[in-house]
Amino acid sequence: MTAIPPAAAIDLRSDTVTRPTAAMKAAMMSAPLGDDVLGDEPTVQALEAKVAALLGKEAALFVPSGTMANQLAIRSVCEPGDEIIAHRDSHIIHYETGAPAALAGCMICPLDGPRGLFDATQVRAAMRPRDQHAPVSRMLVIENTHNKGGGTVWPLAQFEAVASAGRECGLHVHIDGARLLNACIALGVAPTAYTAQVDTVSLCFSKGLGAPVGSALAGSAKLIARARRFRKMFGGAMRQSGLLAAAAIHALDHHVARLADDHANARRLAAIIASTPGLILEGTPDSVPTNMVFFTLEPRLGSAADFCTRLARRGVAAIGMGPSRVRMVTHLDVTATDIDHAAAAIATTAAESASSTA
Ligand SMILES: *Cc1c(COP(=O)(O)O)cnc(C)c1O
Repeated sequence: MTAIPPAAAIDLRSDTVTRPTAAMKAAMMSAPLGDDVLGDEPTVQALEAKVAALLGKEAALFVPSGTMANQLAIRSVCEPGDEIIAHRDSHIIHYETGAPAALAGCMICPLDGPRGLFDATQVRAAMRPRDQHAPVSRMLVIENTHNKGGGTVWPLAQFEAVASAGRECGLHVHIDGARLLNACIALGVAPTAYTAQVDTVSLCFSKGLGAPVGSALAGSAKLIARARRFRKMFGGAMRQSGLLAAAAIHALDHHVARLADDHANARRLAAIIASTPGLILEGTPDSVPTNMVFFTLEPRLGSAADFCTRLARRGVAAIGMGPSRVRMVTHLDVTATDIDHAAAAIATTAAESASSTA
């Protein structure tokens, strides 16, 4: 990510920017509370049971962030010197501050592939020989939806082939499912269509689901008990966290089906971008998989950072994800009318960028 522009009236920088709704705040204020470290937080326990059931796992753990959920999975499974197989554009490689190396002492074996996807043959080829010279191939991380890849949804057959190859190779298979429910809504499948085939899953409540804070890690009871110890070690054990868990419960009850609206808004936004001179949409408007739209600027429009600064002055915030690549993300606080306003701002900004760099 390059410089992050300030918030604007229509904030398309990320789906993390949503504010809790009035109904969500009411749910938070009325939640029964306890002390989760002392083991008697009823709302956190209710959330953890709900997430475990949703994802078809024995247990789940409420944590402050998606990064912590992924890193707890890694730390609970890997020894120093182990290797994790993951796509080259993974969140765990680019946006988790080197935590696999810092916290678990792991290396990553990066795989290439279009839009964040790879195949079973690549997983098998990445396995190290069982030999004293080699790191131990321990874990496979599959990101779904894939953020940097474009909000990509893993096709079920490809996912199944990759996950079963991982398991046949003896790998622990983890889904970085920060936006797993976006993938499920896009395909019209239950989360278990993906999660039944893996060992652990992380899920973010603070992205498209609209909660202010929080993520979860789900897996076997044994693994989650181990992750609970590391959560304490990493400083992520919380007390009256039922306040936050109540927001997550509300989000799971009320904000999942509506992710389809975000996807529809993203496709409209993509159509606008595709028809704006100087902007090159990645894919076609119909192929935008979920709530993310990526495009690049023709060189005559200048840099992504300058484009985003100009756009923010017109009330629309987006993020530059490279010298000329821009990302826009739709979410709970973006309405269909906002997309109309954004369309006008994008057209004006593109024209202004072309003339100012001419
Ligand atoms: C946002 C995100 C995470 C977690 O991010 P936090 O900011 O730590 O909650 C993990 N994986 C992916 C793919 C993400 O997009």
